[in-house]
Amino acid sequence: MKTSRHKKVRKNLGFYINNYKFRQPFQVLIDGTFAFAALQNKFNIQEQLTKYFKCEVKLLTTPCIISETEKLGIFSSAVSGAMQIVKQYAVHRCEHTRKPISGSKCLRSMIGENNNSRYIVATQDRELQEELRIIPGVPVLYLHGKVPTLESPSEASRRHAETLQKQLGMTTWEKETVKELRKHAGMTEENVQLKKRKKKGGPNPLSCLKKKKPQATASNQTATKSGKVRKKKKIKIASHVKEALITELKNKREASSNA
Ligand SMILES: [Zn+2]
Repeated sequence: MKTSRHKKVRKNLGFYINNYKFRQPFQVLIDGTFAFAALQNKFNIQEQLTKYFKCEVKLLTTPCIISETEKLGIFSSAVSGAMQIVKQYAVHRCEHTRKPISGSKCLRSMIGENNNSRYIVATQDRELQEELRIIPGVPVLYLHGKVPTLESPSEASRRHAETLQKQLGMTTWEKETVKELRKHAGMTEENVQLKKRKKKGGPNPLSCLKKKKPQATASNQTATKSGKVRKKKKIKIASHVKEALITELKNKREASSNA
């Protein structure tokens, strides 16, 4: 039983970690009703929730929740005990410090439209639980006797997570299509780099090499047999090199005929 319960907790927490970016230590907002139920069941919230989540939890409350339990505490000693519990936790500033509102309304305002601060709400208040189930990404925790229970993600949470995942899927799909289109256009990154290389490095060293070789052979051959120079034309030589060779030969001929 115990291991299956922990599996369920891990699964439910995993849902909020994966879809709503919940991170450790988890922040648990405790209201008066939860503190009261804990007191009745002799449930040590900090200790038991750390065990339940198998990780560090940060327990929080608000000034409104404290003042609510304070007011109720006048009439009941049990509630004043709950107040003592709630007062131990870090007090999260709310917007109602001047005019405290009911604990449930304050919690509702802390959660807002999308639970940006990623709170887990610990409450026994059925009405508040109902309201929180409508908002995507709000884990609800309550006490079932002495047993803490993290509710399975609400339908609103699951639907919202699904649409989020679909949106993610769309963007990766879009990226793939862009890649495909680029491939068809011959614009892969490799091609672009190759083209650049050809333009930059290609011509200069080659033309330099060609210049040197024919000049060397030409001067040798002209020195021995001037008639063979025509054969050299069959070897591929750049036109400007040819011109240079021809003028050189002409000059040499003229020089020899003059002498
Ligand atoms: Zn408040």
